[in-house]
Amino acid sequence: MYRSHNCGELRITHRGQSVTLSGWVQISRDLGGLTFVDLRDRYGITQVVFNMDDNADLCEQARKLGREFVIKVTGIVNERSSKNPNRPTGDIEIIASSLTVLNASKVPPFTIENETDGGEDIRMHYRYLDIRRAPVQQNLIFRSQLAIQSRKYLSDLGFVEVETPVLIKSTPEGARDFVVPSRMNPGEFYALPQSPQTFKQILMVAGMDKYFQIVKCFRDEDLRADRQPEFTQIDCEMSFVTQEDILNTFEGLTKHAFNALKNIELPDFPRMSYDDAMEKYGSDKPDLRFGMEFIDITDRAKGYDFPVFDNSEYTVAIVAKGAADQFSNKDIKNLTEWMQRPQVGAKGLVYIKYLPEGEVKSSVGKFYSDDVLNDWKTQAFNAETGDMVLVLTGEKEKTQKQMNVLRLEMGDRLGLIKEGDFKPLWVVDFPLLEWDEESERFHAMHHPFTSPKKADMDRMLNGDHETMKSLRADAYDLVINGSEIGGGSIRIHDRELQSKNFDLLGFTKEEAEDQFGFLLGAFEYGAPPHGGIAFGFDRLCAVMNGQSSIRDFIAFPKNTSGRDVMINSPSPIAKEQLEELSIDLDIKE
Ligand code: ASP
Repeated sequence: MYRSHNCGELRITHRGQSVTLSGWVQISRDLGGLTFVDLRDRYGITQVVFNMDDNADLCEQARKLGREFVIKVTGIVNERSSKNPNRPTGDIEIIASSLTVLNASKVPPFTIENETDGGEDIRMHYRYLDIRRAPVQQNLIFRSQLAIQSRKYLSDLGFVEVETPVLIKSTPEGARDFVVPSRMNPGEFYALPQSPQTFKQILMVAGMDKYFQIVKCFRDEDLRADRQPEFTQIDCEMSFVTQEDILNTFEGLTKHAFNALKNIELPDFPRMSYDDAMEKYGSDKPDLRFGMEFIDITDRAKGYDFPVFDNSEYTVAIVAKGAADQFSNKDIKNLTEWMQRPQVGAKGLVYIKYLPEGEVKSSVGKFYSDDVLNDWKTQAFNAETGDMVLVLTGEKEKTQKQMNVLRLEMGDRLGLIKEGDFKPLWVVDFPLLEWDEESERFHAMHHPFTSPKKADMDRMLNGDHETMKSLRADAYDLVINGSEIGGGSIRIHDRELQSKNFDLLGFTKEEAEDQFGFLLGAFEYGAPPHGGIAFGFDRLCAVMNGQSSIRDFIAFPKNTSGRDVMINSPSPIAKEQLEELSIDLDIKE
């Protein structure tokens, strides 16, 4: 027998019992007559004591234990004289009567404790050691629980989990595909799914009614900090539903998850149109944990002989409450430079500080008198003495994006984001199509299967080019704390409308037929009205735990170059393998 208990479960009530524990040596301290070993497993840490007076041989053996040795210990549970209130097992210790070394360990390259001294690279290289640390284990356990609770909620509602294939044909979700050569079909390739989108729609045509799958998706994108080339979705589709049905069902899933895993009752989620989100927050995923809404002062700012504002398409302000005396001239200069970084690209940053006794300090004070700025204070900004207003100006879309960056930064700097606060919302009424000036074509804002709103269908079938820019879709995103957690849409289920959409997106008839003939064909055999959504499962894990990196919730993540540094992948393959796959790689050394 390796163990009668685990390392996290013994309490004062077990006093006097003989127990056997197995685990890893977290640390061993030799205090002369006594050797203390902290024994760790997934469940916790228990202190084991070896006493020179009781058993000198055993104590000698214990002194030789190194960190991360795997041992088995038998002994009696004893009440500790100096208790450790920070540990659930802190009231007791084991007085060891036997010790077996199950396996030795090299000295680990970083400390295996909650706060480790190991950097990201080394931890990923030795991920099995990293995962021994409690915070990483907790994340993986949370992930497992979230999957279980999602399955429970959805299957209780009659959803059926169906596995869709991993070797498929490209789906155009907008990213690059990972491809897999087919040995049996020389010169041909499978693609790994960017999502099971077309399959879940086919399942609706097939009458499955309610589908879900917790599924790996693959996108060959340049990796930003919180992206992974393979990631997991809770992917869902339903038949005979409206947008309202979907929002309610998946608001329910989200509430259930928060309730079951965090013991938090979320109130009903507000809904915001895409246009409102852009006007008020400059983002389609606004962080509602704090206010600081945009105030459009384009018109108000014109007519004071300040050419920058006079000639601007859009001038926008935010109010930083109480910040007037928190930001010195130097701070503002730094903030301005920060906004001028190429990644953000603001031309400048205007400030207005409302100081006591009606005094106003502003970088545009030459053009706008204190009286004017004081008028704005009450009429436009709803500001108070002690507040600071920050203003950006320029081309509308760009300036909105820049102000979004500034708003988030100010929220952070002013400490407006409370830990443990969750602010979900639905963003709805997305545009159907996005016009890309460069390539002179429309892109699908969500994906090519998204339906226009019913009211816009006629305009879509019969309207001119300009009309297409104004079409709205039954598409929606679930946003929590500024992160996009999920997105979906009501789908087109009519062949003619789907063909029209492909047409608008620049597919020729042949291309559409070649890539999506199966779906268009299915639409001719009684496709029900349907719609769905997919949640970013990794991201949901991270956001529910107030963390920003999805990597911490993935057992074996890839680094920012798309490499798994533990198994050292990707890697070259043998010439014979390449030949078998009919791939002729002319690689120069
Ligand atoms: N397939 C979509 C995505 O991966 C989600 C959906 O429309 O259901 O974003």
